[in-house]
Amino acid sequence: MATEQLKEHRKYRLLQVFYLTEAVLLIELFHRLIAKGEAAIPLAIAILFTMLALSPVYFLATRLRLELATQWFLIALTLFVSALLWSFNGLTDEALFGYPCILVFSALMGLRRTFVALMVFMILNILLLGLANDLQWLQHPSSTTSLNSGILFCIILALLGVSIWLQLGDLNQLLQALQSENNRVMQSQQQIEQLINHDALTHLPNRIVARQRFAEACRNASVSKRMVAVMFIDLDNFKHVNDSLGHHVGDALLMAIAKQLQLNLRSRDTVCRISGDEFLVLAEGFQTQLEVKQLAEKLLEAVAAPVQIANTEISSTCSIGIALCPHDGDNFDTLCQKADMAMYQVKDSGRNSCSFFDIALSKQTEQTFNLLNDLKKALPEQQFELYYQPQYDLQTGQIFGAEALLRWHHPTRGMISPAVFIPLAEQSGMMADIGFWVLQQACHDCALWNQGLKWPIRVAVNVSQSQLSRRHLELDVQTALQESKLSGNLLELELTETMLVENAALLQRAIKVLKAKGVHFSLDDFGTGYSNLAYLQDFELGLLKIDQSFTQKLLTDDRSKAVVRAIIQLAASLELQCIAEGIENEQTLVLLTRLGCFKGQGYYWAKPEPLSEFQARLNGNPCR
Ligand code: C2E
Ligand code: MG
Ligand code: MG
Repeated sequence: MATEQLKEHRKYRLLQVFYLTEAVLLIELFHRLIAKGEAAIPLAIAILFTMLALSPVYFLATRLRLELATQWFLIALTLFVSALLWSFNGLTDEALFGYPCILVFSALMGLRRTFVALMVFMILNILLLGLANDLQWLQHPSSTTSLNSGILFCIILALLGVSIWLQLGDLNQLLQALQSENNRVMQSQQQIEQLINHDALTHLPNRIVARQRFAEACRNASVSKRMVAVMFIDLDNFKHVNDSLGHHVGDALLMAIAKQLQLNLRSRDTVCRISGDEFLVLAEGFQTQLEVKQLAEKLLEAVAAPVQIANTEISSTCSIGIALCPHDGDNFDTLCQKADMAMYQVKDSGRNSCSFFDIALSKQTEQTFNLLNDLKKALPEQQFELYYQPQYDLQTGQIFGAEALLRWHHPTRGMISPAVFIPLAEQSGMMADIGFWVLQQACHDCALWNQGLKWPIRVAVNVSQSQLSRRHLELDVQTALQESKLSGNLLELELTETMLVENAALLQRAIKVLKAKGVHFSLDDFGTGYSNLAYLQDFELGLLKIDQSFTQKLLTDDRSKAVVRAIIQLAASLELQCIAEGIENEQTLVLLTRLGCFKGQGYYWAKPEPLSEFQARLNGNPCR
């Protein structure tokens, strides 16, 4: 029983005994008045006086001052009984039975000092009564009222009192042990509940609690005819913080944001952490969308407020998607999904803002959203495969390498083009991990196909922007090379112009380290971006890849031909090699060789193919 409950229970019992005593006294009062004996009037006065003297017990008990109330009750009764003894029949008076009863009650209530004081008082009182009779100061009617009989009564009373006290002491100990055991059980129950229903890091409630609170909020909403808002909050740059500053900083940031969100919500609103950097807010009592929007904007500001973590000031932004009950439905899961979709709309249109679920936008978003959800499972469920497109030496006609191109076998939609899912993976922060998998797989495959070849065939791997900004490219490459035991000079990394411009410092360091290991670098899709000469010189990449859009129009479009010629000349003057992608026919091949480009890849030879087909191709090739 919890302390509060125990107190209530004791109060209840004390009041019961109090009412009972008052009732007995009242009956006795009437009885005396009706009996009209010799002592009726003084006795009635004594009873009336005692009844009044007991009344403070009620006030003290109802105000939970239980110890004082009990002491008052016991002392008043003891004085009443003692007065009866002195006034009427001394030690032969029936009132003497009151003493042991009072002692038992005080022992039951666990009042140690009161118990001892009362017992001493009673013993002294009995002895005094006996002595008074012996010395004939008072003359009680019965002859048994003497010091000797008083001593006997005292011994009986002391024996009774001590044995009751001892027994009750044991009982109390047992009760206390049981109570503390009970408290421990309750504590561990609470801990388990806390663990099941709360997030360990931020101590915020989790989705299970959110679901319960949503049901309550919905009930309130249907009575008050107001709206419940379900807000899905996703931090915009959390992965970056985690990757660049470490997990401990990421954790501290999440805790700070959880606190900020709580501070900016009312006590009846709920904020939960549902996964990594995603929070869910349930807020009720809205009459208009404007009120919801104002709250969302307040939360955006709260999240954006800079926080100090480990001597670094970090500020984060978030995207908030909102769905409303009953407007968008009244099912928790549906509303969460709609809020999630609205959140993706915000992410799509530039982040750091909030948006309501919109049925018109939802169709298109739903597809992207579903695809994104499926994409999350692609890596763990091994739905990715690398295809290889051979690269040829245009003069000798021999294969010298292959480009690794990622394929996603979607469980229901079949093969999905990288042009569709790679931008999605980039936006949602998944591309860095996918890119690392590509590196590992490509190195592994390349090591495999190189076994027993007359000359080595290298692999070219496309690197994404986020592998630089969100992961440690040098480390990833070194890990992949070590794991596969592939020599660095059999690996080529394809970079894009955007990467050179936007991550110049990071790249320069990575290129330096990896070049020392023999790794080659090429610039993919050259001609479609900045085509800036300055960084070409700075980075000393070995190879320029002429984008397929130029190659394919080489025969028909003079402008494309001029661009290709310029690229080839530029490469020659910078002492870079050139490779043309997208060669689909012999005429293009011939023209490219005439212009001075001696490497190429394209459908003319082969489309990107699975590893087994590529290996079969190598087997039929002079390199075997
Ligand atoms: P990319 O790196 O420029 O790859 C060349 C693309 O041209 C490939 O498309 C390839 O299948 C296609 N191609 C090759 N020869 C021909 C041809 O003769 N005619 C035509 N019409 N197309 C040809 P794919 O495989 O669809 O890849 C598209 C883009 O997706 C790639 O362009 C690359 O930017 C990206 N990508 C693919 N795999 C990866 C990857 O593992 N990591 C990263 N970061 N990006 C990748
Ligand atoms: Mg490429
Ligand atoms: Mg390309």
